[in-house]
Amino acid sequence: MYSIKMRASKNDRHISGAETIVKRESIESTVNKFIKRAFSHENGIPDFVNIKIEEIKEDITYLDHLSIKTIDCKTKEEAREVAKDILRSQGMREDVIKEAFKIIDKGNMRGASLLNLEGYRLEPNRERGVRVKCISTSEELKEKILKNNIGTERTIDAIAIATKVIDLGVIAELCLSDNLTYTTGYVATRSGYYRITNLKNKGDPGGRIFFVDINKGDIEKIERLIRDLENKPYIIK
Ligand code: AMP
Repeated sequence: MYSIKMRASKNDRHISGAETIVKRESIESTVNKFIKRAFSHENGIPDFVNIKIEEIKEDITYLDHLSIKTIDCKTKEEAREVAKDILRSQGMREDVIKEAFKIIDKGNMRGASLLNLEGYRLEPNRERGVRVKCISTSEELKEKILKNNIGTERTIDAIAIATKVIDLGVIAELCLSDNLTYTTGYVATRSGYYRITNLKNKGDPGGRIFFVDINKGDIEKIERLIRDLENKPYIIK
């Protein structure tokens, strides 16, 4: 199996990224799909596209996806209350939740922020954040999500990230898309992946937060989590 990663930017500003794990025979078609995706993103035409293909030598973890539920909200205010309620139910403090939305609303990170229960940011580089790599959604799950109207193309990518990070011990994930017109966000916890409509307004930036129960001084634990988020291969089915 091979991991394929794409990232596209313009004037050093991130536009889009994608990644998957495929068999040898699907490498070409996947690369084509990623190139098309890089050059047809609504946020702009890139001046730099990086595509990386790597053979996976480690054992792959095959994991069932978190159950997907959609919560319809009419306004950003209503949607954010729903998201906050889910985060509170996982033991997150009010000020930490506030900090999470502040980071997201600022935008312009390439990866996710690692926020601990005291509200400290643990990611070594605040612009880059932590990027979850070595993930893929099975063809069966992709089909199920699209055919049954459980979610969109965005959900296909995000369910793999969310299921992997929760399996690796992240308590909750909060995500808003970079796509300026895609306003549905989500909160994921052990109990499920909650899509929440109107979690941002059109034109707002996106971002991702991983809430973790790790002390800021526990460098070994932080490094191990980052290494696993980046390198441990998962296929979500
Ligand atoms: P997207 O859902 O691709 O529009 O991304 C929304 C935000 O999530 C981005 O602004 C990044 O901060 C973050 N992000 C995107 N891809 C990843 C990833 N693979 N791992 C961690 N964070 C990501």
